[in-house]
Amino acid sequence: MKPPLDEKLQGILQEVLYRNPGEAEFHQAVREVLETLGPVLAKYPEFADKKIIQRICEPERQIIFRVPWRDDKGEIHINRAFRVEFNSALGPFKGGMRFHPSVYLGIIKFLGFEQIFKNALTGLPIGGGKGGSDFNPKGRSDSEIESFCQSLMLELYRHIGEYTDVPAGDIGVGSREIGYLFGQYKRITNRYESGVITGKGLGWGGSRARKEATGYGVVLFAQEMLKFQRQSLDGMKVVVSGSGNVAIYAMEKAQELGAIVVACSDSSGYIYDENGIDIGTVKRIKEFERRRIATYLESHSSARYVEGSSIWSVPCDVALPCATQNELTARDAKTLVENNCKIVAEGANMPTTPEGIQLFQSAGVYFAPGKAANAGGVATSALEMQQNASRDSWSSEYTQKRLQDIMVDIHASCYETAAEFGAEGNYVTGANIAGFIKVAGAMTAMGV
Ligand code: GLU
Repeated sequence: MKPPLDEKLQGILQEVLYRNPGEAEFHQAVREVLETLGPVLAKYPEFADKKIIQRICEPERQIIFRVPWRDDKGEIHINRAFRVEFNSALGPFKGGMRFHPSVYLGIIKFLGFEQIFKNALTGLPIGGGKGGSDFNPKGRSDSEIESFCQSLMLELYRHIGEYTDVPAGDIGVGSREIGYLFGQYKRITNRYESGVITGKGLGWGGSRARKEATGYGVVLFAQEMLKFQRQSLDGMKVVVSGSGNVAIYAMEKAQELGAIVVACSDSSGYIYDENGIDIGTVKRIKEFERRRIATYLESHSSARYVEGSSIWSVPCDVALPCATQNELTARDAKTLVENNCKIVAEGANMPTTPEGIQLFQSAGVYFAPGKAANAGGVATSALEMQQNASRDSWSSEYTQKRLQDIMVDIHASCYETAAEFGAEGNYVTGANIAGFIKVAGAMTAMGV
């Protein structure tokens, strides 16, 4: 069972909940981190004296703005956009932009909060931030996406910069949107400031392996977890939820390492192919045609499509939730445990509910939180910034080697930190404490 929060941390948490009413996902993310910090305050009382936790829980700056735009018929729409600049102790604010109708301040704050610790774990000089809009890109034409991105940048440009805040993609924002956003920034400012945004196309300042990095990184992390148990991905059955950028490249890397990926999904349902999912087909459907995953059956008649039920009922050795927050519930976790799942590594941000995590941990399933397992994406964004700053472009081989080393280092730091603080094998504790100590140390050094 989880140890109860001590009085001091309980007080801090209550204040965060009180100051940020109605932001359930943010509350969840803060609670999960605070629950692991007791031993840190015991070891480093100066962090409590300097009120580091209270300061980390309050974003440095939050920007909320209107995005008016015209659709193809000339009708005007008004969306709301956010940029939460959470913490710049380790470097410029860094984190993606999410376009999804569910976006509101609480979602962006949870993502920005997670990003602080994730970015610290990469060991690279990036602070934490996140942005997004409640704009729904589904069914929108290319020119509507362009208009929306241009209107959004008309306000966002004044808040970002390679030394202040560097956005990138997230759900609903891929290289097409990054292109429209960067083009508008360049037009407005008259500066070819490549390092102002990451996830750019390869021909105009992007980094090799950035597109693949989050998914590849998740699997490299899972492989490290298995290695520590003297096992490997070879021959393992893997289930990946989602079929977006993270899921596609997680599947690709898992297959490359000898695993059999039997299922993936989208928001309508999942496909099951016992011979292993054909990644080429998923890429065509999702990256180019932008259609539903059910389309997979048109070219693979032996596969099955299951609508409206949970992908986590599919038995597997390794589960990689790569869709969205709170997609893997206690019920799903129970099914996975019953089906002898060995490892869960989160490709999405906070896809497992707290009850789900608890179930995995008490059943002895090794569980890696997104802030560790999916850090390869933002790490490679930081490598893109390095290449931009030196006006250079690295080979795919070199960039992937850097990514691999970073994931191995993050794994080691989570594992060792957990062990040091009496929680061996608990990657949640390890990731939170290792990330927190780095940020807290920098904040302490820089004064109030
Ligand atoms: N949105 C990604 C994440 O959740 C990547 C952010 C970035 O590359 O800045 O970490």
